[in-house]
Amino acid sequence: MRILDLTLYNFRNYEALQCAFDPGINLFIGENAQGKTNLLEAVCYLSRGAAFRTRKEAELIRFGSEFAELEARVFSYDREQRMKAVLFAGRRPRQLFLSGVKKLTREALDGVLNTVLFCPEDLSVLKKGAAERRRLTDDALCQLRPRYAKALEEYRRCAAQKAAVLREWHDRPGLLDLLPEYNERMAQTGAIIIHSRAGYLRHLAAYASAHHAAFTGDSERLELNYQTVSTVADPAAPAERIYGWLREHQESHRQAEIAAGQCLSGPHKDDFELTINGLSVRTYGSQGQTRTAAISLKLAERDLFEQDTGEQPVLLLDDVLSELDAGRQDFVVNCIRSGQVLITCCETDRVTAAGRTFRVESGTVRPVED
Ligand code: ATP
Ligand code: MG
Repeated sequence: MRILDLTLYNFRNYEALQCAFDPGINLFIGENAQGKTNLLEAVCYLSRGAAFRTRKEAELIRFGSEFAELEARVFSYDREQRMKAVLFAGRRPRQLFLSGVKKLTREALDGVLNTVLFCPEDLSVLKKGAAERRRLTDDALCQLRPRYAKALEEYRRCAAQKAAVLREWHDRPGLLDLLPEYNERMAQTGAIIIHSRAGYLRHLAAYASAHHAAFTGDSERLELNYQTVSTVADPAAPAERIYGWLREHQESHRQAEIAAGQCLSGPHKDDFELTINGLSVRTYGSQGQTRTAAISLKLAERDLFEQDTGEQPVLLLDDVLSELDAGRQDFVVNCIRSGQVLITCCETDRVTAAGRTFRVESGTVRPVED
């Protein structure tokens, strides 16, 4: 899938913009605070119905304006469609349109334009806590597998209720009678979660390490290890087997959970560890290595999406080039050949890209002639 063109009115610092994209690589060069990230944010908003830097729609409307309009012509599944969003200042709800027809729910636009986004904040996924890494896996799996989203929702609900019991049983000991029911449902849904995460991460790892090897001229080997509940001997085993291992773990942690007043057993504590040439990226990865690994994971995410839906999502890479050496920069702007890619970078990055280059300046975007 690809975006043919984008039209913006009063979106962030764009008063009026019309921009036609290349089907391949599009490089947006500009100084700080000119509107590069705002451009990707507009594309992302149309794709997902939400901005990536804010939850507040009012922030997306140009200062002093009453409304903002975003429109894109998109080519996907062998046809051209127009996506449009109108955002209003104040309380009036936004309006969404697909090829001129008003849509009442965001879901009606799902899948028309899929995007995979890399933004510098994603680096924290690799450097910070396990919760961020779980979110990365869960977000992708929820989009791809409705059964997973359902299991995760039920697991989270049970885990929250169990946590409340473990916190409050001192005052109301009768609450402990509820634990077996919560444990049973958490083992059932937890088994589906672990089985799905193992499968997804195995495929993600295979694609990501191939990208990472190409990125680094085979000098770095990227590996990804899934870490889950200790009694689960094989996370890729059928969910029925994982269920038994989870029950075993719950049983052995029963007293500890009651004493600690916390839920200690289950996949809500899962993590995945990335290593480069055997060393943990989190602990030992250099800035460039961490960035390379994060981009490789994004490329892999795009591969998996394509495998599942038959269409390659548009890749949005915000400020991806800083901290990369010349060879790795060249890989990003010249070697991600397949599908459409939108890349932003600063003047200082001094790269020349295959495809089309644009200059972004004070809310304007102009193609750079060769
Ligand atoms: P950098 O290289 O520093 O990342 P950038 O080109 O990506 O810069 P953007 O994040 O796109 O910059 O922001 C450009 C400008 O848009 C900022 O100076 C910001 O103040 C301005 N801006 C953000 N929201 C609005 C808004 N609602 N109305 C008007 N201007 C806005
Ligand atoms: Mg930016």
